[in-house]
Amino acid sequence: MKAQQTSSAHVLIFPCPAQGHVNSMLNLAQLLALHNLHVTFLNTEHIHNRLTRFSNIESLPARYPTLRFKTIPDGLPEEHPRSGERSVEPLQSVKVHGKPLLRDILVQDRVTCLVVDGFFGKLANDLGEEVGVPVIHFRTIGASCFWTYFCVPNLFESSELPITGEEDMDRTITSIPGMENLLRCRDLPSFCRPTRAKGEPIVPLENIVSETHQTLRPRAVIFNTFDDLEAPALSQIRRRFPTVFTVGPLHQHRESKAPTATNTMRSSNNSIWEEDTSCMAWLDSQPSRSVIYVSFGSVTTMSRESLMEFWYGLVNSKRRFLWVVRSDMIDAGEGKDESIPGELVEGTKERGLMVGWVPQVEVLAHKSVGAFMSHCGWNSTIESVAAGVPMICWPYFADQQVNSRLVSEYWKVGLDMKDVCDRKVVENMVNEVMLIRKDEFLESAEKLAVLARKSVSEGGSSYANLDRLVELIELISQ
Ligand code: UDP
Repeated sequence: MKAQQTSSAHVLIFPCPAQGHVNSMLNLAQLLALHNLHVTFLNTEHIHNRLTRFSNIESLPARYPTLRFKTIPDGLPEEHPRSGERSVEPLQSVKVHGKPLLRDILVQDRVTCLVVDGFFGKLANDLGEEVGVPVIHFRTIGASCFWTYFCVPNLFESSELPITGEEDMDRTITSIPGMENLLRCRDLPSFCRPTRAKGEPIVPLENIVSETHQTLRPRAVIFNTFDDLEAPALSQIRRRFPTVFTVGPLHQHRESKAPTATNTMRSSNNSIWEEDTSCMAWLDSQPSRSVIYVSFGSVTTMSRESLMEFWYGLVNSKRRFLWVVRSDMIDAGEGKDESIPGELVEGTKERGLMVGWVPQVEVLAHKSVGAFMSHCGWNSTIESVAAGVPMICWPYFADQQVNSRLVSEYWKVGLDMKDVCDRKVVENMVNEVMLIRKDEFLESAEKLAVLARKSVSEGGSSYANLDRLVELIELISQ
């Protein structure tokens, strides 16, 4: 990181109102502020209030003295569930209600550069042109999935899409340049499927594809990935998108800097859920690499039946487990009981611990954790890669289908349980990753972790790209 004078650039960072998006963009915001840029972080009121509520008494400005915070309403009532089937509604609502508010902030606060979540791509591009503020997109998904979305029109042209039905799901996809023969139909983003999984939000594929193509318009695009992790997709993206900054894993940059009171990165405890930190003491008391950590992220929901399959699979595997079960994780459905069955919590105690939310980055870094059973949201995936923890994947929707394929077939750091939820499969996979092929998976995961650390260390690609990104922001802010 270069020493700099305080800059006249004023960056506004605006994530989608969802946990994973806020986490990675808060990390970017801190890094830009550490490079002496003036940074304002814009949240929806709902997210801001939850972040403040659950950040253990400190207010956000106290936690992040180098950042300025602003909020806008998401236009939804407070009691809106904002998860599962309805998890994309805050995003859609902000697109409708947020435009005039964002315009006012850009103008009144003299913003010189807008770094916006790619899901707000068109809104930001249009506003940026209207008020003369340069825009940079931040894609919170991996580069491989981004490239897959970008290539969806080619897949229709080459008749590899649409998917005709269940019998078609194992057909290999050949016409994504750089990723030929890697994905089957079932590994394409869930929005390509003819039917939706129960509880999955409705997102028309054409909307995602056109939003992805909006990323051709801004000054640059940022990915929370690193060059060695997704080289084939990135080399293709760089041919089509003139300025690409791979700066991930964002949460790891702090390790390469000498921390002081004001320059340390804070990546955990940005939760919009109350963290149960008792799990750390529990982990301390477990043998090395003996625990499988299980979490399906912040929006996945599942039926009570699926929850029971996971529970039986975990208990029958006879491995130790730490399982995050959010209070809103069971599908509400009509007249259905959405509470966590009491016998599950009780029956877990012999070898496991069930909690509502954990400081995930710290959990993954704990020496007792031997594997991660995950829905493969991009943040969870890159956090696991950075920690050198093998994975068992149960993707829910969107990019997660692609990410889980990378885990099992490209990086070979785990197994993919996609489209199956069966106690015997859970039990077998847990034992395969935690016992039978433990050394093999740990070794390949550690190799990736070494590359991740290298990328954010001095001389690494993400380290250098962050400096280049700051230079670009300075330049376009003049
Ligand atoms: N997370 C956490 N504690 C938990 C579960 C998740 O801090 O108990 C964090 C996790 O570290 C990640 C984010 O929540 O940064 C989830 O983002 P991801 O992209 O993996 O999934 P999403 O929630 O968007 O589906």
